[in-house]
Amino acid sequence: MALTYSESGNVEEAFESLFTSKCQHSSERIIKCCVVFLTVIMSSDVRYFNNPFQDFGDLNSRVPPVNKQYVKDQLIDLARVVFSKQKHECHGGLYTGAAGLTYSFLHIQSVLTEQENRYFLPLAEKLYQRHEEYFQELGSSLREKDLPGFIHGKAGVDAVGAVLGKVTGNKKLFETSTRNYAAAADICKPRNFQSKGSDELFVGRGGYLLGVLWLQEKLGYQPVPIQDVKDVWDATIRSGRKYATAKRSPCRLMYAYHDKEYLGAAHGLSSILQVLLSFPEFLKQDPKAEADIKNTIDYYLTLQDKNGNYPSSTGKVGPYNLVHWCHGATGAAFMFAKAYLTFGDRKYLNACISCGDCIWRFGLLKKGPGICHGVAGNGYVFLLLHRLLQEDTTNCKNLYRAGKFAEFLKNDIFIQYARTPDRPYSLYEGLAGTLCFLADLLHPGQAEYPFFNVFYNYLTA
Ligand SMILES: [Zn+2]
Repeated sequence: MALTYSESGNVEEAFESLFTSKCQHSSERIIKCCVVFLTVIMSSDVRYFNNPFQDFGDLNSRVPPVNKQYVKDQLIDLARVVFSKQKHECHGGLYTGAAGLTYSFLHIQSVLTEQENRYFLPLAEKLYQRHEEYFQELGSSLREKDLPGFIHGKAGVDAVGAVLGKVTGNKKLFETSTRNYAAAADICKPRNFQSKGSDELFVGRGGYLLGVLWLQEKLGYQPVPIQDVKDVWDATIRSGRKYATAKRSPCRLMYAYHDKEYLGAAHGLSSILQVLLSFPEFLKQDPKAEADIKNTIDYYLTLQDKNGNYPSSTGKVGPYNLVHWCHGATGAAFMFAKAYLTFGDRKYLNACISCGDCIWRFGLLKKGPGICHGVAGNGYVFLLLHRLLQEDTTNCKNLYRAGKFAEFLKNDIFIQYARTPDRPYSLYEGLAGTLCFLADLLHPGQAEYPFFNVFYNYLTA
């Protein structure tokens, strides 16, 4: 194991002292050094493991960046664990609930053999049925305002049901799910349909619009009438303008969730802007809205700290310590990628690349293997850059980096010292999301972070 700890002097010193010649002839010294090393690892308040890998360069450019057979074996082993151990929990929508695993199956399906598909499909269907029953049990206690929620509400589960129905030929499931999804549009049109913030990704309009995009991509048609989609998009723009004006924000669009101006992808500005940019026809019809989105992304650019990271909310003073999809550079990278694809300005591409460099240094998170605030989520930015930069087989720095992040999931240090998430098999916190990342390593040209395909745009015809 070639460990080259570079960021944390303490860990480096502990490791060096463990292997210096002074230690070699003294078992007492070795035991002491081991204690120091373990103490450093266990007590450190640093949120990441130091990256032990050499970066892509001349030495490793001739080696295939990803050992596909190894990754496939890892994927199948993990899938067996995930689908057998999930306890059919449904709380938390797609984020931690059973239907999140159904999504994971749909995501990895294309890399499975026919036999593997036959094994996993019934398990994925059963998990979905359990989630449907959960909503039926909730009955009238399910609030209307929870219906349009995508990652944390019912609409996200309906969207997965629609795609599952299409894949399995279950007409009833397909029709009910698409009808439910379309009906939820009206609920999220009023500006403050949620009392604590109506625009973010988990329960707000941003998530609803994300689902609109995903459904169109996967179904090949749009179940939500165009006027409803436009109304929700317009409401999101109006809401951001109104809040920014009231609070005298330094940019033209701003949003709050639970009284906090979050900037990351989970509840904040970056994913809302990314989603808004995914509707090019609406941008064309409304140049002022397009200018306001661009102005806000340009403001966002000014928030980068010296390590290439971004704050989790406004008012924070750098350097910022969360390199997560939910908060920080990981989520922001997707917004910058979308801005580059929309406006063609290289400054957005450069911002996306510097997010990748930040993640390479600080992104092997101790929080676990998941996609929200874990190693797989951070590895996804390398797959994003691989596609964005159209890397080929000889110039594939980002695919190499993604492969190393996957490799780290099997590293002894990660296995021993990474935290186990509260929902260890879930889509966003746990291993169901990791499965998606491993599957995408096998076909990186089509890789997409769950529901976050920045290469896809809304079609009006
Ligand atoms: Zn998170």
